[in-house]
Amino acid sequence: MAKVLIVGAGGVGNVVAHKCAQLPDVFTSIVLASRTLSRCEKIAKDVAELQGRQIETAQVDADDVEQMTGLLRRVKPNVVINVALPYQDLHIMDACLAAGVPYIDTANYEPKEIAKFEYKWQWAYQDRFRDANLLALLGSGFDPGVTNVYCAYAQKHLFDTIETIDILDCNGGDHGHAFATNFNPEINIREITQRGRYWENDNWVETDPLSICQDYDFPGVGTRKAYLLYHEELESLVKNIRGLRRIRFWMTFGEQYLTHLRVLQNVGMTRIDPVDFQGNKIVPVEFLKALLPDPASLGAGYTGKTSIGCEITGTKAGKPRKVFIYNVCDHAECWKEVRAQAVSYTTGVPAMIGALMVATSKWSGSGVFNIEQFDPDPFMDALNRYGLPWEIRES
Ligand code: NDP
Repeated sequence: MAKVLIVGAGGVGNVVAHKCAQLPDVFTSIVLASRTLSRCEKIAKDVAELQGRQIETAQVDADDVEQMTGLLRRVKPNVVINVALPYQDLHIMDACLAAGVPYIDTANYEPKEIAKFEYKWQWAYQDRFRDANLLALLGSGFDPGVTNVYCAYAQKHLFDTIETIDILDCNGGDHGHAFATNFNPEINIREITQRGRYWENDNWVETDPLSICQDYDFPGVGTRKAYLLYHEELESLVKNIRGLRRIRFWMTFGEQYLTHLRVLQNVGMTRIDPVDFQGNKIVPVEFLKALLPDPASLGAGYTGKTSIGCEITGTKAGKPRKVFIYNVCDHAECWKEVRAQAVSYTTGVPAMIGALMVATSKWSGSGVFNIEQFDPDPFMDALNRYGLPWEIRES
């Protein structure tokens, strides 16, 4: 039925390739393209071994719009799943417009030279996608992604009015390294070292980085310290969830991780501006990425679970209500199924489901959409069916 082109052969791209391969009736043809062809070939070999499907591979520099457009015109996919880095988003959107292909991603565009997380650059494509009668689906990972769909589901089924949302992301796993990031180190560190920000009573409130924390009881993991961060889905949920009074995002970090991060920051290793080194310019955080474990390599031997969800308060039938909608995902189970750790898995499965929604026309439209703007029901069903079952804790 559908031909899918996956761009980016990292930890998440690996999961998307495996999960698309598990649905041969929908994704009849799969092409995986990335900057380094050998990484695509390695994934294709694993997909053949574990899922019994052959996928095509291709080399592409997605920052080169002409090259990317050429690939789209040759492959003629029904949908593109962008799981390269946020820097590529606008270039891949440009290529999708030129070749007439729907677009899906999991992370909003960031300019390389400033760590800024805003939808404004991608929302500015609204008229072009609408006029081309094409769909761009933004943020189809876990957070953003599944967490936005949980909010849309709560708005549709669980509440008459929603007052507060706290998105809580816990990785209770252990990969055995002194310091490693679970997705691209450069993107991860840029995100965490930002000033915090949340939205309350129609205003954005700024906080010092990692200065606010709370202990939270995460199902499947236990009590962990979660730190307030700014995260991109806050920007779209503030627009799309009616009557909201406050929304915040929290992520857990262990003491060891925070100590390493503090040292790296103090010595300048997380800087994103170029510095002179022996007559050459290097960007410290890019150099650091080269030294840290590749997130895709963390899966073997990773133990423990992720537990991510939305705590939502409001009213239903005139009574106050509080729920936590969440998923628990086991690192070792993910490794068995698709040779990935749970952070890549919880991002790659919803990216595949986003493509499934578009390929089967369960979701359609012209323009640029955040994921919570669509009917959450078919997506929530697919989460249960394809590896990320959800639960509701009522309190
Ligand atoms: P990785 O660094 O493991 O993989 C990124 C891949 O993109 C690499 O294969 C890289 O190629 C490729 N790539 C980079 N630049 C280009 C380019 N110019 N052209 C073509 N390919 C390119 O990252 P992850 O897999 O961990 O993350 C992928 C994406 O998922 C990121 O955008 C991340 O922000 C997002 N994410 C979203 C989450 C969510 O819940 N919403 C959670 C986790 C991640 P090469 O091998 O040559 O370096």
